[in-house]
Amino acid sequence: MAGRFRRLLFGERSGAKTPKGSGRMATDPVCGMDVDEDRAAATSEYGGKTYYFCAVGCKKAFDKDPERYLNEATSMHRSEH
Ligand SMILES: [Zn+2]
Repeated sequence: MAGRFRRLLFGERSGAKTPKGSGRMATDPVCGMDVDEDRAAATSEYGGKTYYFCAVGCKKAFDKDPERYLNEATSMHRSEH
């Protein structure tokens, strides 16, 4: 209860900085975070589209198996084998 509240506060804090300007936001397909296209830690092109990542680790995971993350994002269904 209390822990959950704290987590919410922390999450808002880290995302509170809203950069002014026309920074477009993209969604990191790996972790689902909103990523500012100008501030993305890494980008990757796949299927003629550019994807933005919050961290290099996310890009690496995406490059390994792009389909997996793209399918997951649309179906919101997660199944591990
Ligand atoms: Zn990420």
